[in-house]
Amino acid sequence: MSILKEICGISRRSFLQTVAGTGVLASMELFSSRSVFAAENKKPNVVFILADDVGYGDFSCYGAVKIKTPHIDKLAAEGRRFTDAHSPSAVCTPTRYALMTGEYAWRKQGTGILPGIAAIIIEPGRMTLPAMFKQAGYTTAVVGKWHLGLGAQTPTDYNGEIKPGPLEVGFDQCFIIPATGDRTPCVYVENHRVAGLDPKDPIKLDYTVKRGEPRSFVNDIPRIGEQTGGRSALWKDDDIADTLTGKAIKFIEQNKDKPFFLYFATHDIHVPRVPHPRFKGSSQAGVRGDVVQEFDWSVGKVIETIDKLGLAENTIIIVTSDNGGVLDQNGPDAVHGGTEETNNGHAFNGPLRAGKGSAYEGGTRIPFIARWPGKIKPGVSSELICHVDMLATVAELTGQKLSTDVGPDSFNILPALLGEKLNKPCRDHLIEHGHVLAIREGTWKYLPARQGRKKAGKKDNAGPASTGKAVGELYNLAEDIGEQNNVADKNPDIVKRLSGMLEKYKTAGRSRYM
Ligand code: CA
Repeated sequence: MSILKEICGISRRSFLQTVAGTGVLASMELFSSRSVFAAENKKPNVVFILADDVGYGDFSCYGAVKIKTPHIDKLAAEGRRFTDAHSPSAVCTPTRYALMTGEYAWRKQGTGILPGIAAIIIEPGRMTLPAMFKQAGYTTAVVGKWHLGLGAQTPTDYNGEIKPGPLEVGFDQCFIIPATGDRTPCVYVENHRVAGLDPKDPIKLDYTVKRGEPRSFVNDIPRIGEQTGGRSALWKDDDIADTLTGKAIKFIEQNKDKPFFLYFATHDIHVPRVPHPRFKGSSQAGVRGDVVQEFDWSVGKVIETIDKLGLAENTIIIVTSDNGGVLDQNGPDAVHGGTEETNNGHAFNGPLRAGKGSAYEGGTRIPFIARWPGKIKPGVSSELICHVDMLATVAELTGQKLSTDVGPDSFNILPALLGEKLNKPCRDHLIEHGHVLAIREGTWKYLPARQGRKKAGKKDNAGPASTGKAVGELYNLAEDIGEQNNVADKNPDIVKRLSGMLEKYKTAGRSRYM
């Protein structure tokens, strides 16, 4: 018994409960790390908070000085803060697809940034992150930005029963922004219906209308796509954070006595950035900084709820972002023609090169903090991890087997989350999805030469075009985190190995079980 206790780090009482409850066979499994948590009767709740467009340098615990994020900083101090965590893509939809499925989105056609009229891009019946939780007996909910399509066909009909949607791919309940804050429809969908819709004023959408055209305005803010009708259901832009946070809290309160999974995907800090008046001017980094502080408030309310209900010891809280930071090129006063947003020199992606949309580190390296008192060892980790790993990690956490045909790019990162001493990295490589597919191996990073002669994107996002003989770019992030010094020519063997790995994982259709 004492040896078992040492190996598994579980209490004598929970061990005896396991033996009594599930028999000797199950107790033998205690030798595998998987069953350490599954063996304990209490399944940990999981709250996954996904911010939108928050960059690597946006929280004070990641170096911001013009923005204050006390709640997130406290979470980091009590939990584990990752310095090399990545979103699976440098933009919204593909990141969310990969988070849900454990598959890199670039493997599947049609997973780019979706309009608000797109059909769902996750096949109902497929194994997903929420479905994995449900199989383990959890109650699941998504609150906030969905952006994975709704309905069986494009264009989505918002006036009837809207399905398939989140409820058909593993969630028990949903309260969502269908696409983004800057895309129509500007209404919430609750389970299968638009919340507050008057059937006598049906919603009509026209996606031939571009942002900034007179017809694109909803609530006096330009959107992508026109919306007519649905007036009683329109959201109020400066209330979005309050509304979503309230729904998240309500779900936690209602499910406090049973295991739950909450995917809380905030609108903050995506454009249009319209903070509630109490956050307006609260930061020293312009309206962008204000909405980061509003996001911090939302995180604080969720933590407060969990702590107040006595759930802290049994709840894993993760705070992260769906891609790197960006300044709004339409500006806060797009009405008057648009100017680039200013933020008083705040380095929203820290020392990283480029940002949202790019395969340079600024595109996908994002803040990632995980707290689970008594289980996750507080500290800072430089382990390479990615949101696409959540599926395999949750399988491990809940004592389930991830079959080889699902989650083809999902690795179990539970040991890294917990802060266990690792003999080898949880993942020995990662493919970063931006203007090209780049590959990481340890601190090496290789970006293949970009095909064509397209002009380099704004803010250095797209890198140099191929000159015909270029071997691509190779960076040693251990000494060059800003990707300024291309050492490809000096290291042909490393370039060859990394480009070979990249091709192998692309063509194999998977990167796990190779
Ligand atoms: Ca985003």
